[in-house]
Amino acid sequence: MHSSASKPGSTAIEDRVRERVRQLLESGALPRIYPAKLWVAPATNLLCSCCGEPIKTGYEYELAFPNAPSLKFHPRCYVIWDEEKGEPSEGA
Ligand SMILES: [Zn+2]
Repeated sequence: MHSSASKPGSTAIEDRVRERVRQLLESGALPRIYPAKLWVAPATNLLCSCCGEPIKTGYEYELAFPNAPSLKFHPRCYVIWDEEKGEPSEGA
């Protein structure tokens, strides 16, 4: 569970990722369930499943789902995915 942290307002990049994540959720490319396992590891330049860009710096989140390949997310994208999957069309 997370409480809504105070944010300085979403950036243009966040808006773009959020839009993409919504489309991927609708198409089923991204799951709406919590992963069976979640790792946080140093970035290894793999493509993020949310925004499609390589995770070059910082950390990557690896999400493992049953019967599906694991997904790599930017920490930023994970937060967006987490928000979008759980509360469809609330707020905004
Ligand atoms: Zn990303």
